[in-house]
Amino acid sequence: MTLAEIEALDHSDPLHHKRAEFDIPEGLIYLDGNSLGVLPRAVSGHVGNVVKQQWGHDLIRSWNLHGWVDLPIRVGAKIAGLIGAEADEVVAADSTSVNLFKVLLAALRLRPERRVIVSEIDNFPTDLYIAQGVSHLLGGYELRFVRKDQLEDALDDRTAVLMLTEVDYRTGYLYDMARLTQLAHQKGALAIWDLAHSAGAFPVHLNRHQADFAVGCGYKYLNGGPGAPAFLFVPRRHQQAAFPFLSGWMGHQAPFAFVPEYVAAEDIRRLTVGTPGVLSMSALDAALEVFADVNMEEVRQKSLQLTDLFIELMGPMAARYGLELVTPTEHARRGSQVSYRHPEGYAVMQALISQGVIGDFRAPDIMRFGFTPLYLRFADVWAAVERLDQVMRQELWRDPRYSQRAKVT
Ligand SMILES: *Cc1c(COP(=O)(O)O)cnc(C)c1O
Repeated sequence: MTLAEIEALDHSDPLHHKRAEFDIPEGLIYLDGNSLGVLPRAVSGHVGNVVKQQWGHDLIRSWNLHGWVDLPIRVGAKIAGLIGAEADEVVAADSTSVNLFKVLLAALRLRPERRVIVSEIDNFPTDLYIAQGVSHLLGGYELRFVRKDQLEDALDDRTAVLMLTEVDYRTGYLYDMARLTQLAHQKGALAIWDLAHSAGAFPVHLNRHQADFAVGCGYKYLNGGPGAPAFLFVPRRHQQAAFPFLSGWMGHQAPFAFVPEYVAAEDIRRLTVGTPGVLSMSALDAALEVFADVNMEEVRQKSLQLTDLFIELMGPMAARYGLELVTPTEHARRGSQVSYRHPEGYAVMQALISQGVIGDFRAPDIMRFGFTPLYLRFADVWAAVERLDQVMRQELWRDPRYSQRAKVT
């Protein structure tokens, strides 16, 4: 594809106007929105107002006056619209890791006679770690962490829960949620989905596919800011039975009755725990407004066009410099990122970042490029590939500076 053809794609892009709603540093090409989404312009003003007016002036009255107490529910309802859930089936709270702990315990309680948790060995480590912690806590569980191609065989009539991340964080492989959830159900197991790399990236259909529980991240494609609150999903059919083991007062039926006995709220609030972080929740609340007029099918279409274009333009360079594509080329199996394996991937990525193109690196050797259709242009894809070509051609990555590992990769 020529540069002129690529620029024509930007002109006819129905999402082109969304970029103006984000604060993107001049000249920077940001291919890391799958790790930390860029700042939506509306956030600073809103958070400033929450700090100055709501906290600074209205103080404790704001819990009622500005509805702070319902923020987890209100923010959850906004996210619900993006993931195929009803408004009262999602709540914003805690971190993804903590939410997974809560829903995994609740799910296991729904299958008390079964003692096996199935997941994939390449799942994001925190998901596997949480399962290990839960297993230590409860005792007597078998953790069956297998390869993707072994998942189907790993499910049996002893399986309590199948726990997967819909998009593989390293390769961008997209699971067939409908099929795997159905397979789990056929064995009598429940399916928990981690939507960290799905929510806000493409349409998710939790209810259509009969997912039993889900969790996800507020700071990646939802652009809620560093450490933004995460979310969790419990469909109505499980809400009464989802036992809240982290039984804090915010999940109580009447938090302000201040009674000594815990009685769980009837609704999804039962899976909240303590006081919400109002400032970070407000940032996420404002950030989600960019999705208000967005058709997620259009987002998906553009995401596939962006990743197709990237893979196409990378082709000759990948062959020349031994960059191995590890992302599926099949649309149905691809999330919104593209990854390449290279033995010097860390240094190459650092050198590329110094050239104004930010992607990231995942051990042991994966260079990851995230594509966020709301603020990326097709011309950015072109420029990113040009700059990477320069890094490879001129071997800029050989500078020893780029091999020094920072604490956060
Ligand atoms: C990013 C990510 C998380 C992050 O969990 P935190 O609790 O927010 O640190 C969890 N799971 C997956 C699959 C992720 O990609």
